[in-house]
Parts: sequence; C-alpha cells; structure tokens
Amino acid sequence: MTSPDSPHPHCIIIGAGITGGALACAGAQRGVQVDLVDKGNFETPPPEDGKSFALSPSSKKLFEEIGLWETLTEITSITTIHTSDGMSNLGLDYEEADLDQGPLGYVVDSALLKTKLMERLHAYPNIRLHGNTAITSIERNEHRVSVQTEQGDTLEAPLCIASDGRFSQTRARANIPLREWNYNQTAIVCTLAHSLPHQNQAWEHFLPAGPLAFVPREGNVSGLVWSLETPKAAHLLKLSPEEFVEDVRRAFGPALGDLTLASERWSYPLGVCLPKRVIDRRLVLVGDAAHTFHPVAGQGLNVGLRDVAALAQTLGEAASLGLDLGASYLLEKYQRQRQLDVLSMTYGTDGLVRVFSTQSPLMARVRSFGFGLVRNIPPLKRLMIRHARGTV
Ligand SMILES: Cc1cc2nc3c(=O)[nH]c(=O)nc-3n(C[C@H](O)[C@H](O)[C@H](O)COP(=O)(O)OP(=O)(O)OC[C@H]3O[C@@H](n4cnc5c(N)ncnc54)[C@H](O)[C@@H]3O)c2cc1C
Repeated sequence: MTSPDSPHPHCIIIGAGITGGALACAGAQRGVQVDLVDKGNFETPPPEDGKSFALSPSSKKLFEEIGLWETLTEITSITTIHTSDGMSNLGLDYEEADLDQGPLGYVVDSALLKTKLMERLHAYPNIRLHGNTAITSIERNEHRVSVQTEQGDTLEAPLCIASDGRFSQTRARANIPLREWNYNQTAIVCTLAHSLPHQNQAWEHFLPAGPLAFVPREGNVSGLVWSLETPKAAHLLKLSPEEFVEDVRRAFGPALGDLTLASERWSYPLGVCLPKRVIDRRLVLVGDAAHTFHPVAGQGLNVGLRDVAALAQTLGEAASLGLDLGASYLLEKYQRQRQLDVLSMTYGTDGLVRVFSTQSPLMARVRSFGFGLVRNIPPLKRLMIRHARGTV
C-alpha cells in the first residue's frame, strides 16, 4: 500500500534522455506524479548527436500513446532492408511484404525526437522538471526513496527509476554488478546526400572491419553508422570530407550513386554493459542504464522503449489499485518481463559482430549456412522480422 506520507502514486526518474522522458510521459498519463531530474536543462533544444534512429513499430506505438509521434515532422519509413556479407557477397533481403504488416521500421533524427519529447514533458501538469541538477545522495529504505539534489531540493517517493544512460551513476551508487566488454570498435555516425533515391531502403553490409549501415532519411539523404576498429575509425575521422566519402563509397558500393557528406561526423566507442539485475530495493533501471549493446541491429533505443512500455503498464495498474509503486513483487515482475528481450538482443548482436568480423573459412561457411537457413525457411525469416519490429 502507499505510505501514509505519500498518498499519491509517485516516482522519481533520474535521466531525461529518450527513455526517461518517454517513461515520465507514459507514467504521468496513467496518473503517476513524476519528478524528472537531469543534469542538462529542459529549456533549450538538445545538441545534435548525428544519430538517425531506426525505430521499430513497437516504439512508434509507445510514441503514439504519449502524443509524441504526431509531432515528429520528419519520419521516413523503411520498406526493405538489404543485408550482405562483405566477404562472400552473399545477401538476404527483408521486405515489408514478408509480413504484410506495414513498414519494417521508421527513421527519425535524434535531435528532432529529443526536442519534441522535451515539448511533451512540459505539457503534463503532473511532471515536475528538475534541470541542471546533479544528485548528491540517494537513500533507499524499506518504505521510500529520498534523493538530494545539488540545488538543495529533497525529493521523496516510493520508487526511483534510473534512466541515466550507459554510465549510470544511480546504478553505480546501488553497487549493482555489471558484465562488461568492449569491441575495440568505434561507430562513425553522419548523414550523406546521394545522387540516386534510396526508395525507402536500408542497407547493412557486414564487412571484416565492422558493419556499415545506411538508413533512409527525407529526400536523397541517408544516415550512416559505420562501426570500425578504433584506430581505423580515428584515421577516417581525420580525413577531409571528400577523402572520407571516397572510403565510404569504396566500402558501400554504387547503390546510392555519388555521395556527399551532409553533416559533421560524430563517433561513439562501442561496448556491452549488462547489469546482473535491473532492480534493487525501490530502484529500477531502464534504457541504456539497464543494457547497452552493439548498434549493429539499430535496437538499443527500441529495447529501452520496450522497458518503458512494460514498466509504465505495471506502474499504471498499481497506481489505479492504490498499491505501493516500489513494492518488490512489482519490480520483480518487470525484471522477469524484460529479461528475454534484453538477453537475446545483447547476445544476438554480439554473435552477429563476432561471426561477421572474422575471415576464417569455417566462419564463412557458418555465415553462408545462416543466410541460406533464413532465406529458405520463411517462418524463421518472419520470426526474425517480428523480433526486430518488437511485435513477437
Ligand atoms: C552509433 C549508435 C547508433 C544507434 N542507433 C540506434 C538506432 O538506430 N535505433 C535504436 O533503437 N538504437 C540505436 N542506438 C542506441 C541508442 O542510442 C540508445 O539506446 C539510446 O540513446 C539510450 O537512451 P537512454 O535515454 O536510455 O540514455 P541516454 O541517451 O544516455 O540518456 C541519459 C540521460 O541521463 C542524463 N544523465 C546522465 N547522468 C546523469 C546524472 N548523474 N544525473 C542526472 N542526469 C543524468 C543525461 O543527461 C541524459 O539526458 C544507437 C547507439 C549508437 C552508439
């Protein structure tokens, strides 16, 4: 039951990235009072980070529920995904028609998404925003959580949610052990203009040095994510735009015609961070704080938004029954619900990176067998598409 001091369902969310922001909206919509804390501010648009997010239909559904989807002024659907093994030229195409349930995904610019989400956060009267705020302490006892901010505020609620990203300090304060490894790879992210239309197609080339992906944006523009061994990425980042584009063209081929760099280049070191549990006393982890894995399948945010959907539903039901939002059985239910999706994405993407980054003849045969298996067993192909769409 809710504690007598806290009659309204209430939670504190630390980290207002896309997962924390979406959770604040989804919780507020279900009648939960939310204190949302971020070290950044809530007034000015977030800086560009170069990412073109490939969003799954499950993410679209959540954004529709919180009234965000219709505010996104630029959304490009993906109708075909071409995958290929850069060493053998074997390939496999996933088409919208394979499932007949609409586009395989949607591409949205990260800065646009964050800006529109920030506007939605201001629209809910039961979300209190605490920007430019570092946390000085978090105390969790049997009945409540008490969070002290650097500005001298004390926030109290029955539940604290950590959505403060891959290097979550909230998770570290709770001493939750981690499984971590890195790939010695860095992803280069930018947008490129091209002379040929993309026709809503995305590409994923598995090259020996790491995967290279293009996702379609509005007009003759696509977003690039190219994961490479870190020294090679550092070298490419130093090249002139023309030299860089020439390297992209050599690796990608002629499918999009002439290429021109249409943005800055951003870089992200890649690794896995998997907490051994995503709950603790009156604490839940969501988004990258709960799982960070390789972006090879463009799924990190989608999985984080599935955390959000599951947790919002659990909290909404508890709130409507007047239950304690931080009760351990509710948190355990959330942890059980999310385990399979998170583990399969983490180890599935890890397997993809390892299988495709080796030149051994044995692994080449494994890859060829894998492509053949998926191509020739339509139910397996449909299952893979459903998983990527978040509709399994
Ligand atoms: C190259 C690349 C490409 C990607 N492409 C895709 C894709 O196409 N599709 C997809 O689904 N996923 C993709 N991802 C994954 C995706 O970027 C992440 O999963 C997602 O951005 C995580 O969002 P988040 O809100 O959980 O965390 P973050 O975006 O890290 O947000 C954390 C928030 O917490 C705040 N914060 C941090 N520390 C504190 C603190 N101590 N106190 C207060 N606030 C704090 C930060 O200011 C920030 O606002 C990609 C990742 C990479 C690296």
